[in-house]
Amino acid sequence: MKKKKLSKSYPCRECQAGVVRQQHITYFTWLNDELITVPNFPAWVCDLCGKRDYDERAISWLSMLLNPNAGRASTKKKIQPQHRSGKSAPSVSK
Ligand SMILES: [Zn+2]
Repeated sequence: MKKKKLSKSYPCRECQAGVVRQQHITYFTWLNDELITVPNFPAWVCDLCGKRDYDERAISWLSMLLNPNAGRASTKKKIQPQHRSGKSAPSVSK
């Protein structure tokens, strides 16, 4: 019985010769006009071609942090201001 759950490295899918290992890098991302840096961000980096894969859970965690509304469908809807025609004015007792 083999009990190998050591998925700390895997062969690179990009160059198929290098080994991808988990490293902790500083992740840069833009939030609107602000550059966000995340130190010690888990990433998978190929030691040969340098291809980077980010940890899926870490990415979703990060996007949750940066965008609290990410849980919902992220289709951008334009909020249209509602113009009320002045006909239904609040009742004013004369
Ligand atoms: Zn590679």
